Amino acid sequence: MYFSDFEKYGRMLWEAGLIHMTSGNLSIRKGTTLYVTRTGSLLGRLSSSDIVPVNLSNTLRDSGASSETPVHRAIYRADPSVGAVVHAHPPHATALSWDTEMIAPVDSDSLYIPKIPVLADCPYGEGSACIAAHFPELLARHHVAMIRGHGAFAVGRDLKEAASRISMMENQCRLLFFRQVLEGRVGRG
Ligand SMILES: [Zn+2]
Repeated sequence: MYFSDFEKYGRMLWEAGLIHMTSGNLSIRKGTTLYVTRTGSLLGRLSSSDIVPVNLSNTLRDSGASSETPVHRAIYRADPSVGAVVHAHPPHATALSWDTEMIAPVDSDSLYIPKIPVLADCPYGEGSACIAAHFPELLARHHVAMIRGHGAFAVGRDLKEAASRISMMENQCRLLFFRQVLEGRVGRG
């Protein structure tokens, strides 16, 4: 019954260039059940069998779900108001994440996302305990945050809000990236 949002926002993330074919994952919370995209699924071409129900409180039904399910679970457990979590690999935001622990957008959307924190201590750890341990506290204050050299997680009431935050954040980072290029700050070595 929730599939249409997964299909819609998975496809939009793919079409917007925010993921590669098999990266990224989506989830929603309904009571004590989390619905998470299947590991290896194509977010741009999801089918209903790609949505795996898992438990909020334990890992007993995690088989087949995204390898990053532990991060999703930790975020939901830390904040009861979160209804959906989106993870994507936006390229401009990820490029900027290597050189700072706090990305500061400068465009008009900075009214909505003034700061983008970067988790710098857990590089490349898909679904790692390190990310699950440290990410919820960042998202409690910022709604969207980066893992250095990896990608972004965003939270929202629903998939639309969480995916929109990732999209806005990547657009802000693309502008920041272009501004740095124009100012000659990129490529000087
Ligand atoms: Zn990832």
